[in-house]
Amino acid sequence: SSKQVAVMEQRKDRRLILFPLPLQGHISPMLELANLLHLKGFSITIIHTTFNSLNPSTHPHFTFHSIPDGLSESEASTKDLVLLLSLLNAKCVEPLRECLSSLLSDVSEEPVACLISDVLHVFTESVAHSLKLPRLVLRTGGAASFAVFAAFPLLREKGYLPIQESRLEEPVTEFPPLKIKDLPLINRCASEDYNQLVAGLSNGAKASCGLIFNTFEHLEQHALATISQKISNVPIFPIGPFHKFFPAASSSSSGLLSEDQSCIPWLNTQAPKSVVYVSFGSLAAIKEAQFLEIAWGLANSNQPFLWVVRPGLVHGSEPFPSGFVESLNGRGHIVQWAPQKQVLAHPAVGAFWTHNGWNSTLESVCEGVPMICMPCFTDQLVNARYASDVWKVGLQLEDGMERGMIEKTIRKLMVEKEGEEIRDRALKLMEKANLCFKQGGSSFQSLDGLVKHILSLEP
Ligand code: UDP
Repeated sequence: SSKQVAVMEQRKDRRLILFPLPLQGHISPMLELANLLHLKGFSITIIHTTFNSLNPSTHPHFTFHSIPDGLSESEASTKDLVLLLSLLNAKCVEPLRECLSSLLSDVSEEPVACLISDVLHVFTESVAHSLKLPRLVLRTGGAASFAVFAAFPLLREKGYLPIQESRLEEPVTEFPPLKIKDLPLINRCASEDYNQLVAGLSNGAKASCGLIFNTFEHLEQHALATISQKISNVPIFPIGPFHKFFPAASSSSSGLLSEDQSCIPWLNTQAPKSVVYVSFGSLAAIKEAQFLEIAWGLANSNQPFLWVVRPGLVHGSEPFPSGFVESLNGRGHIVQWAPQKQVLAHPAVGAFWTHNGWNSTLESVCEGVPMICMPCFTDQLVNARYASDVWKVGLQLEDGMERGMIEKTIRKLMVEKEGEEIRDRALKLMEKANLCFKQGGSSFQSLDGLVKHILSLEP
């Protein structure tokens, strides 16, 4: 659209095929990357699974192809993410191969320069290889957690993994300031499937023609350097935050749930930086008892709040305490799904209580919103430690979830003198984030590097 910051560049006469992982936190960044590369002059084809299938009408400038993933109804509704990813990795091999072969043999389209796959689609490596199709990978998570995943063999060798409950507070000296409890696992365990996925992530990146991150140099310099060193044969492109290359209004939605726009008029009635925005992303689930502590902690904090209570957030039903909503007198607004980027950019928002999914973490950094960090699993644990102890733009709820502690943490971060430095640092970090995607910035340059790299690939 004419509103885009960057001018659409001359057509490159090359087509790129992008293959996102069918989860919200992976779809949005892949489609944003597709938009960026489209702007750079490439034609875009998106391959997606029938599971969490995409709606082509949101991106009329792309070509969409759906492949049958063969998941049964019960497989598709599993809450076990590792199982889901393992199933997709096993069942999509042939459908993807067929789809790619037919795209590659279609002479009516521009020649295909490469495949860009989510790095967690581990199986794409062998498929692309067999078709002699160059393959780049997108890691939608941060670089710091990626470096830790890539070091799992070392962490095992040094005895950090498997985790021993008695050592949770000990530092992981190879990755300061991480503690053993911050290692990216699920419930502090790693199943055989999980370990395989982690190994696939690392090996798949090593075998790729390029590794793209939705992060920026200033934010994760050290981790990016560590990764470059470890996989020195693969060029790395930190070109995030993807969504900031476009003005907010022009970004097309790729949400699987529809956004409740009522948040914005409600936010408009609130004082600047007064609202705590609460969302735990698209996957995290909490227990009923925790839900109640959150509800009362928010109510007792005396700060206005906007809370995303997604279907499935709470195990069982949504147990709003009786009379809870009425007792708020409009001080709380509850929605099923929010236009999060818009919410975080709203002047009324003063803090983000987050599960520290990478997208949420990055979106918060970009808008200078300090965080209350409550990681649930995997890379969220690393992201939260970075937010609280490296960038120092947030406070972690470390000692479980108890309403008194929640209330205290919210007030400390948002109103008390103690939180002032954190609030200031969040604004300074936002300034850094705002430089990287502008002309001459690190991500701007890295994106140009990516375009040149893609054009140099000989299919
Ligand atoms: N999101 C949203 N509305 C909501 C909650 C989340 O649009 O009410 C978006 C959010 O902006 C982010 C994504 O969903 O881009 C969640 O990704 P993240 O990596 O933070 O967490 P995940 O859902 O993968 O755990």
